[in-house]
Amino acid sequence: MELKYKIDELKSYLGQHEKLVQAIGLIYWDMRTNIPSKAGESRAKVLEYLSGESFKMITSPKIEEFIKDLTPYKNEMSLIEKRMLEELERNYNETKKIPEDKYVAYVGLCSNSELAWEKAKDANDFEIFKPYLEKVVEFQKEFIEYWGYKDDKYDTLLDKYELGLTTEKLDKIFSELRDGILEVLNKIKESKKKLNRDFLYGHFDANKQKDLSLYILEKIGFDMEAGRLDVSVHPFTTNFGNKDVRLTTNYHEDEFTSALFSTIHEGGHGIYEQNISDDLECTGLQTGASMAIHESQSRFYENILGRSKGFCSYLLPVAKKYFEDFKDVTLDEFYEAMNYVETSLIRTEADELTYGLHIIIRYEIEKELINGRISVSELKDLWNKKYKEYLGVEPKNDAEGILQDMHWSDGSFGYFPSYALGNLYGAQMFNTLLKENPNIMEEVKNGNLTEITKWLNEKVHFHGAIYTPEELIKRVTGEELNPKYFIDYLKNKYYKIYDVE
Ligand SMILES: [Zn+2]
Repeated sequence: MELKYKIDELKSYLGQHEKLVQAIGLIYWDMRTNIPSKAGESRAKVLEYLSGESFKMITSPKIEEFIKDLTPYKNEMSLIEKRMLEELERNYNETKKIPEDKYVAYVGLCSNSELAWEKAKDANDFEIFKPYLEKVVEFQKEFIEYWGYKDDKYDTLLDKYELGLTTEKLDKIFSELRDGILEVLNKIKESKKKLNRDFLYGHFDANKQKDLSLYILEKIGFDMEAGRLDVSVHPFTTNFGNKDVRLTTNYHEDEFTSALFSTIHEGGHGIYEQNISDDLECTGLQTGASMAIHESQSRFYENILGRSKGFCSYLLPVAKKYFEDFKDVTLDEFYEAMNYVETSLIRTEADELTYGLHIIIRYEIEKELINGRISVSELKDLWNKKYKEYLGVEPKNDAEGILQDMHWSDGSFGYFPSYALGNLYGAQMFNTLLKENPNIMEEVKNGNLTEITKWLNEKVHFHGAIYTPEELIKRVTGEELNPKYFIDYLKNKYYKIYDVE
């Protein structure tokens, strides 16, 4: 049959492209984990070459032919085939708008810019990174002109990570979120209850932290035979299909939570990727529904489960086996320490409550920058001003301020909102999970997350990118994204912890 033949032909073409993408991904992984510092620039050349080849494949006239040949059969196609064609068309139309030489030059710039960011962060000096960032921003602005935009230039970038998202929609969501966070935060400030987390600081041997991280990772359902855990400056997850999913973390010997919760967070991303259906291989759909849906899973494991009272009651006796320091700590003390709220400077270490404010700051800055209302030279002052205004803290240096995240170095503008949206999606899914299974958190006390992971596998992970984020959240929860669930979750949890109403 003609259709089946054509689909097989397309899958084989996409399969070839996928091999190239995996090789590129492996180089990125190596650059962020193992590469000798002197090898950075020559490796960037390898990346440039391979990315050029990948670009050629996805903008090839062959793709246009596939689209032309397959479109008349749309009504005969399965859901997966239809979505595969739609994604192919969208990607093709978008990518071919950028001239190949521009794209290749941009990829080269980004790998050097990433290395410059690392150097700048080590040296605590924004000036080292600034010239690279200026170029990255210029490229992004140029790309937006190629891609086109309607009202707000930043919408074009948002849409890349969350299909259909606009600043108009996000302004509303974030204003509701900000008000909700501030309401809870103000109550906490008035609370007479003072929590103690001193015992989370001290000396925690990195090897023991690693053993504990690996133990917990398997416990929450990450398959170590289809993945691994390494170390990098900035924890991340990358994958090559669903049988090789690589996570990284970063051990700090002076405190307990950072590496463990980074590992659980990345583990959430990893569990998602490992459980995407094999049927989606070579379709372009064997990936998450969106970056925000991805973040909903990582932050679900990290916070909703990882920092729940149930999980803490499982974790504490385990932690005691690894670290003597905890021998007198009670469950309440441990749970409260894990959920200690304090406005702070570093996003990745922010508590669950104030985390969203870090994202809103970046969102507001990116909007201004991409629309040309501020320049890279003004970024640092604006950053510091907003931290003072929203969180009441001021960075003492660049490393704990403007240089803390790597995202801008590789041009990931428009990505940050995914983290906050992930919290919202996650809480909304949690609400449905509890409605369908009122006692499911009981099992978490025994460290048994199997039922929860199974629920997420069926509802979310398995489907990869078959559904758009909008379709997926409706399928899972019966309604569109609503910030109310996350705000209610925060109130429920933190009012109890801090003894306020
Ligand atoms: Zn993440």
